Amino acid sequence: MTAPLHPDTVAVHSGRSDLEGLGVHALPIDLSTTNPLPDIERGGDSYEAMATGGRPPADGSLVYARLWNPTVARVEDALAEMEHAEASVAFGSGMAAVTAVILAHTNAVGKRHVVAVRPLYGGTDHLLGSGLLGAEVTYCDPHEVASSIRPDTGLVVLETPANPTLDLADIADVVRQAATVPVVVDNTFATPVLQNPLDLGAAMSLHSATKYLGGHGDVIAGVVACSEQTAEALRRVRAVTGGLLHPLGAYLLHRGLATLPVRMRQQQENARRIVQWLIDRPEVTEVFYPGLDGDPHGILERQMRGTGAMIAMRMRGGFAAASAVTSATTLFTHAVSLGGVDSLIQHPAALTHRPVPPEARPAADVLRLSIGLEDAADLIADLAQAFECSRAPTADRPLSARTGPLRSAQRGPLAQKGAARR
Ligand SMILES: *Cc1c(COP(=O)(O)O)cnc(C)c1O
Repeated sequence: MTAPLHPDTVAVHSGRSDLEGLGVHALPIDLSTTNPLPDIERGGDSYEAMATGGRPPADGSLVYARLWNPTVARVEDALAEMEHAEASVAFGSGMAAVTAVILAHTNAVGKRHVVAVRPLYGGTDHLLGSGLLGAEVTYCDPHEVASSIRPDTGLVVLETPANPTLDLADIADVVRQAATVPVVVDNTFATPVLQNPLDLGAAMSLHSATKYLGGHGDVIAGVVACSEQTAEALRRVRAVTGGLLHPLGAYLLHRGLATLPVRMRQQQENARRIVQWLIDRPEVTEVFYPGLDGDPHGILERQMRGTGAMIAMRMRGGFAAASAVTSATTLFTHAVSLGGVDSLIQHPAALTHRPVPPEARPAADVLRLSIGLEDAADLIADLAQAFECSRAPTADRPLSARTGPLRSAQRGPLAQKGAARR
């Protein structure tokens, strides 16, 4: 028996096992929307197999690209392996993946209630709360999951590290509280490099692959890693709702996976240096980064292999200072999204978390940083000059307002999560 491959090796080689047989080395892109049928019977059998969520039969046809695409299937195999899952299902965006997960675990199985642990990505929070998908939602804190479960609860939604607070939730504990109800963990911030939710009992690990997995800001995609049985349910939803990942996007995503572990480690290293610098800056009242509070509950130690490359911070000068900083950075692009090779800065309350109800929205002085692969000293210099710019218009404020005590080591929640429960 050979030893299991290191995750770095898996990232480079996974989803490519059929290439040698095809006589090619780089990933092929299959753009066929329709496929020849061997005969009516085998064509019909193939259609039936895939429309009900299965894989294409060996002697059949791929029929139609809304049912199956080889380029997409390769990256699905790769992500399943990286997430220690039997299967994964790719979608045209992270939100299409969230939608399919909700539908497959509520309407499709006669349940109508979802327990959602806050904070969540703004789009997910909004989709759940909008009622658009017909699900009733109870928002809660991680320790309130057990008391929020009802007989008609079909799904528990959790995100850790959370967006944008970087709060950590104990996945194994939430799974215990959920008992027989499946838990989906949005693993976008950690990636399989730092965290594998299925190893901790979660039923699904969901990604906005638009972020770290793609990694280059040029593909919108979503993916859910899970059991083959759950994958069948998700493929059924995908086949009828059409939330497909285009093969060109699948190609870019698969290409990006090979460098994911290296990118993640270097971006994390840069982020740690920037956090160390930020915590001593008088312009910043609080820094949010996993482990900054010393990991009092041991969650970081138990479930993650690193702290990642996302940072949030509160600006002493409130919204005005935050706004000035976003206008003044030059290396950091003022833009939403995250996880790419270049650094981004954005204001969650005005942008990514705009659709979230006010009581669960991040405060107006919070900025979120996605740290890229630039040199850390260059990034620090860019922030330093932007902070200088942000101080200028507020120079007439009393000195005490600008030179108060340094940020406390305590990480408080940005949102009033308890009050947000419905
Ligand atoms: C961006 C994001 C999503 C949504 O993904 P899209 O690819 O933009 O549809 C979901 N969850 C998290 C944590 C995200 O950052």
